[in-house]
Amino acid sequence: PELIRLLQAEGLDFDEAVSVVEKTTAYTNHTILAEALETWPISYLEEIVPQLVPIIKELDALAKTRSSDEKTFIIDKDNRVHMASMDIHFSQSTNGVAAIHTDILKNEELHSFYELYPEKFNNKTNGITFRRWLFECDPELTQFIDDHIGTGYKKDALELQKLLQFKDDEKALKELLDIKAIKKRQLAEYLKSAQNIEIDEHSIYDIQIKRLHEYKRQQMNALYIIDEYLKIKDGIYPERPITCIFGAKAAPAYILAKDIIHVILTLQQLIESDPLVRKHLRVVMVENYNVTKAEKLIPAADVSEQISLASKEASGTSNMKFMLNGAVTLGTDDGANVEIHELVGDDNIYIFGAKADEVIAHYKNSDYVSRTYYEEDERIHRVVDFILSDEMKKYGDEALLKAVHDDLINKDWFMTLLDFEAYVAEKKKIFAAYEDRMAWAKKMLVNIAQAGYFSSDRTIAQYNEEIWHLK
Ligand SMILES: *Cc1c(COP(=O)(O)O)cnc(C)c1O
Repeated sequence: PELIRLLQAEGLDFDEAVSVVEKTTAYTNHTILAEALETWPISYLEEIVPQLVPIIKELDALAKTRSSDEKTFIIDKDNRVHMASMDIHFSQSTNGVAAIHTDILKNEELHSFYELYPEKFNNKTNGITFRRWLFECDPELTQFIDDHIGTGYKKDALELQKLLQFKDDEKALKELLDIKAIKKRQLAEYLKSAQNIEIDEHSIYDIQIKRLHEYKRQQMNALYIIDEYLKIKDGIYPERPITCIFGAKAAPAYILAKDIIHVILTLQQLIESDPLVRKHLRVVMVENYNVTKAEKLIPAADVSEQISLASKEASGTSNMKFMLNGAVTLGTDDGANVEIHELVGDDNIYIFGAKADEVIAHYKNSDYVSRTYYEEDERIHRVVDFILSDEMKKYGDEALLKAVHDDLINKDWFMTLLDFEAYVAEKKKIFAAYEDRMAWAKKMLVNIAQAGYFSSDRTIAQYNEEIWHLK
């Protein structure tokens, strides 16, 4: 609307101005979470941008001549302005940021728009810059790649596939394991200096770093840790120590996110003060998670936790960063995990849990009831109740722990309990696979070799060729 106003001020009439905006702008959807799809009461806009309201009303009238489907209205029956609807009607392109996400836009979230403008819809799978997420953060791995396939991959990331010729080369695979060991030691040294925490560099580094959000399900990882804690207490020890590392920030007003962080910190304290358990299992919350921390954590990772509720993670990009640095993904069939799976094949990724279409059906039918899982699955009952146990209350705040306990049983909007058993089973598989060191090194190599597709150079080239058309 602002661009239309400016063009009108330059002497174009309304129709001409709309036509220019329609041809020169494009809309990228980054998430389908309702909280991020802005809608504003028209009364707010009348106070803040009164000069735009007549234009928005004209656009709304025009849109209503194109479709009578309410889902495409700019101003809805409650007088709220749907920002994304305005974008889709009056721009030349609408894209999602991973193949599954674009499919969900076409078939579910934006289906009415897809029927109206099928030609506008397209996919642009996200990418990451290899300058930061390989060359800068892992010079040792970069050197290894240079030595084996030359430096052409720095300009054309798909050349990383040349590494596949070393899939069965023991010397190369051993070198790869040595580099990972170096990066794990560097992270251990960093954590010692930054947080005075000493971790076992021979343990498996299992890392979940991302914004704290219920849909990303850090709470499911916390429940896994409880399950493992209880097993250790019962005398069943993991084959090798596991270090579970978290990094996360939450919006200040996101109370439940803060409560989940509290559960993780309480587990960290509980385990740190238990000499038996901490030999086998550690929990580390990295303070003040940010890109600088990510650059230290990702090269050191063995296991990349990408466990969002299927259909909810539009793409994810840390999944790509981890893969590029030789971590193996443990994840759901969601976002770019789907494309990672296609590229590396079944042997080199660990996928579990409900598929997007099952999850979407649960939402449509309102038939997911977390309490049923809590009541009917003994293991789930035990781990959920442990959140409110005397052990946890000794280190944590009862009211905050109770908030998470209650939420899991009575709400669990993001279906943690639905996938919990599958998660535990898959995690057992990936940890067992880690013990065959050469087979694991091969998985690392295949992941690195197939990461080229996720270079942001490819993403940006596609935006340019198919949407921007810059010369
Ligand atoms: C890459 C990155 C993210 C995005 O992570 P996802 O797991 O894709 O959500 C968030 N924060 C930082 C600091 C990152 O580097």
